[in-house]
Amino acid sequence: MKDLLCLGIESTAHTFGAGIVSEDGKIYSDSRDVYIPVIGRGIHPTEAAQHHNIVAPRVILDAFRKADLKPGMIDIIAYSCGPGLGPCLRVGATIARALSTYLCKPLVPVNHAIAHIEIASLNTGAKDPLTVLVSGGHTAIVAYAAGRWRIYGETEDITLGNLLDMFAREVGLPLPGGPEVERLAEMGKIFIDLPYTVKGNDVAYSGLLSAALRKYRDGVDLTDLCFSLQEVAFAMIAEATERSLAHTEKKELLLSGGVAANKRLQGMLESIAREHNVKFYCVDKSLSGDSGVQIAWNGILAYRCGLRIDVEKSLVKSRWRLDQVDIPWRS
Ligand code: ATP
Repeated sequence: MKDLLCLGIESTAHTFGAGIVSEDGKIYSDSRDVYIPVIGRGIHPTEAAQHHNIVAPRVILDAFRKADLKPGMIDIIAYSCGPGLGPCLRVGATIARALSTYLCKPLVPVNHAIAHIEIASLNTGAKDPLTVLVSGGHTAIVAYAAGRWRIYGETEDITLGNLLDMFAREVGLPLPGGPEVERLAEMGKIFIDLPYTVKGNDVAYSGLLSAALRKYRDGVDLTDLCFSLQEVAFAMIAEATERSLAHTEKKELLLSGGVAANKRLQGMLESIAREHNVKFYCVDKSLSGDSGVQIAWNGILAYRCGLRIDVEKSLVKSRWRLDQVDIPWRS
């Protein structure tokens, strides 16, 4: 019997993506188009959804062309069901429903956050890791236990990706802000004192953002500020991670999500893993940000456990927390 093939459609926020993955984890294609707001503005949900509507046909056709497959050869259609921006989620879900109906293929809803973790596991070979998920929508330290991914620590306010993006936006850097802050941080030399807030296993970043912006307005050098912002923000999540490692006694540490592309963050978490004699894994940069590939792979995992949804019931869930999702494929 041939391996199952899944088309995954991603549209939670800035990225419209389509990816095709097979049951054995082979990535046939990864096609994306990213909505980038004008400098000085954040993501506007309706504008982002309009962007997705415009690029969707081209991105999906490109995924089939790169994979050298015809639509009829696909076995499963998976889509990002949430969490995310409502108008954006609805674009991807509508297209997935139409394809599922037209091609007579099963439709599988996927939780976007879990898809980040599962693609990172596939990519690195991590089996049962404590996972740090850091992106624009998430900052959470999670581990699998008793049928679900459980949260051991998370942000109490904004995410790590938000912190970097909002800081970048306010100081006039282009979005996404993370790579820009990283680039400038490498040139920074002087450490500027900024507030460090860890409460138990949770972190809070909004005070750090306000303080960093205040320093910027006071004329502190931007490269020094980027350097210090990264040091403080990453040390906070690293401290919470270290405590979660001691608590869960996991033997693997996995870094996933868009912010995982950051070299300094990778270095900090790797050194913690080394100290605790834990194997460190980091998702490859090509798979760290939002993509249809992560949705397709999670679609395959879910479908193999009998999960699918009727088109009439396939509503999106903009606030679908990852610890609300049963994970039968890991039990
Ligand atoms: P989610 O996936 O949780 O819904 P999202 O769609 O914003 O959120 P991703 O595409 O996974 O998330 O990640 C985007 C985030 O990653 C942005 O905040 C961006 O600034 C950040 N990022 C990307 N590259 C880097 C980098 N090199 N250093 C730090 N942050 C980075």
